[in-house]
Amino acid sequence: MSINNLELKNYLDGVLRANEISDYCPNGLQVEGTGKIKKIVTGVTASQALVDAAIDADADAIIVHHGYFWKGESQTITGMKKRRLSALLTNNINLYAYHLPLDVHPEFGNNRQLASLLGIQDIHAVSHVKPIGVVMQGTLEDETDGVTLQSTLQQILKRDVLLEGPTSKPITTLAWCTGGGQGFIEQAVERGVDAFITGEVSEQTVHTAREMGITFLAAGHHATERYGVKSLGEHIAEHFDVTVEFIDIDNPA
Ligand SMILES: [Zn+2]
Repeated sequence: MSINNLELKNYLDGVLRANEISDYCPNGLQVEGTGKIKKIVTGVTASQALVDAAIDADADAIIVHHGYFWKGESQTITGMKKRRLSALLTNNINLYAYHLPLDVHPEFGNNRQLASLLGIQDIHAVSHVKPIGVVMQGTLEDETDGVTLQSTLQQILKRDVLLEGPTSKPITTLAWCTGGGQGFIEQAVERGVDAFITGEVSEQTVHTAREMGITFLAAGHHATERYGVKSLGEHIAEHFDVTVEFIDIDNPA
């Protein structure tokens, strides 16, 4: 009824090819807790609210997409970081984080999971973006338009979705990048797709969408990145004798 914490680390590092992808944070076991894991909580971000929910759930491990120790952040353990780490260490909870490896994975990746929710076909990674799979491209079986795609996304993700650029132009091909992928809109334009979906929007993204005539949808960083770690958790529950619970800490951004 349990798995060793290092065995789980090695398994996840292997499945997600964590050591092959260069990233802005360390991927894998970020904070070591108990050796014996019976209960795992998965979530998008290792915020204090998620750590507290994991403590309440009696979890031995937390697996997230957004962990700690980002490039460029302060190296001191003070304030918010001190409280989060203290809660993990006091409660002997392991923290595993997989950032880009969990965006680009061909099965559990946020990009792949969003495509499944939308029924996108002929999926392939846009090859000149590194690591491969940060931006994906595919087609819809039935032609749609911006307004319809916006309402589909709103139903699936249960939140408001921003729509810019052409709203009624036919859409069959699209590119997408979950999270903060708005900077890739120009690559979507170069690919010649009808629409580009990501999580966040910047001021300049709106002008690019309007002037380049590409339908743009910003569906939320958090909302578009719920599904990778959730599907990874379901996979772990199938493969190991452990309990896994996905906890969604709402975030409008
Ligand atoms: Zn993200």
